[in-house]
Amino acid sequence: MEYSRKVAVSAADEYDTAKIKEILASHFAVLGINIAGMRGKRIVIKPNLVMKKPPEAAATTHPSVIRALLLLLNEAGIEPTVAESPGGVYSAQRMDGFYRVCGMYDAAKDLRVCFNTDISAQTLNFPEGKSVKSFNIISPIADADVIFDVCKLKTHSLTAMSGAVKNLFGTIPGIEKFEMHAAHPEYDDFESMICDLCDMHCRRCEVIAITDAIIGMEGDGPTGGNPKKMGCILTSRSPFASDLAAEKILGFSGVGTVIQSQKRGCIPKSADLLEYPLLRPEDVAIGDIVPATSKGNSSMSALKLFSGGIFGRILSPRPEIDTAKCRGCGECKNSCPQHTIFMVQAGGKTVAHIEREKCIRCYCCQELCPFTAIRTKRNIILRAVSKFR
Ligand code: SF4
Ligand code: SF4
Repeated sequence: MEYSRKVAVSAADEYDTAKIKEILASHFAVLGINIAGMRGKRIVIKPNLVMKKPPEAAATTHPSVIRALLLLLNEAGIEPTVAESPGGVYSAQRMDGFYRVCGMYDAAKDLRVCFNTDISAQTLNFPEGKSVKSFNIISPIADADVIFDVCKLKTHSLTAMSGAVKNLFGTIPGIEKFEMHAAHPEYDDFESMICDLCDMHCRRCEVIAITDAIIGMEGDGPTGGNPKKMGCILTSRSPFASDLAAEKILGFSGVGTVIQSQKRGCIPKSADLLEYPLLRPEDVAIGDIVPATSKGNSSMSALKLFSGGIFGRILSPRPEIDTAKCRGCGECKNSCPQHTIFMVQAGGKTVAHIEREKCIRCYCCQELCPFTAIRTKRNIILRAVSKFR
């Protein structure tokens, strides 16, 4: 499939709905996206609602970006559906909580939109897949004609960066995502699976990637990091191209999903070979992003020496429970694909405990801990490498 190489990039320094709406309208114009022509089609907005956190935590797509898009769609006579499937149990009641806490209902005030609570899923075959030949996909996405993939730009403990490609992992129902982690324990295989998923969606319907990078997240993303002003919005008809540009904006290199996208020819070898009808990545580049602890520079370099695989996995920083912060809620235990987390009594309270042997370093536990009580600890070899750098 021939993927678009165009990425529209604009500076945006605040969550002002009117300004964001103007920016998105200009992006659609330069990219040739005709919203009015989508009337009568099934339009789905897929935000990133990874955790039930308020917008200011910067873990989720900001409601102002969603509202700006909803306004444009409503003005074109389109009533879209908002659909998402965060990790954990996928239920209508739980989704209601995510929509409320993440500000989605506020974003939709007085507008015409449907919030998905249909928790059914469909199996979609993808014979072209390099790692996976079929996926279970939540029904509104499986039935969509157009998906607006409205992601938040963040650092990520497992994949280094979370953008438009990784956001589509949330089209797999709830806890089935944990099973995908267990089935793809090697990093490059997991990232290849994510690229298959994105490729499948792009081949079967139109996917428009919008990246909320006004305030993103740095550090131990996708949920435990800190808000970071990034000051831009990206739009592309290709999630792969959008992430290649985003990688350059963050000053990262070697992001696994980007490498996998390049290997399968979805994007060129360099962000310089993409087309930018508005600003270029260097116009909005951020020079001081703090990566996830697990992906710190020395870790990345050492891991690259071993080309990922089993050595990469063994050398990866391991998750560790901060028992002082742990509240014994059990979210990590329920999210562990290896079932290697147990609740124990320590210091007069119930806390989580990780049996290391079976841990595959997927960091699902860290991602889903509501109290940021799981940190990553570098392997002794990596710590030694750091000292000599
Ligand atoms: S999710 Fe966090 S707070 Fe809850 S049991 Fe696990 S480590 Fe403790
Ligand atoms: S303990 Fe955490 S990092 Fe290890 S396999 Fe379980 S969820 Fe993944």
